[in-house]
Amino acid sequence: MKMIDSLKAWWIRFRCPTEFLCDNCQLEHPSTCTHRARPNATQCPDYTPK
Ligand code: SF4
Repeated sequence: MKMIDSLKAWWIRFRCPTEFLCDNCQLEHPSTCTHRARPNATQCPDYTPK
C-alpha cells in the first residue's frame, strides 16, 4: 500500500504546474481549506486540481 501512496504522491507532484499544490488547488481559500500546510503544501490528501 505504501508503494501505491508514494506513486500517487509522485504523480500528483509531477502533474502540478506550480511549486506548491495550493497554487493550483480549487480549495485554496480560508473558508474551504483548514490544512495548516496551506498555502505552501507540497503534499496533501485533499488536493483538487483546478
Ligand atoms: S486542500 Fe491541500 S492543496 Fe488544496 S489548498 Fe488546502 S492544503 Fe493546499
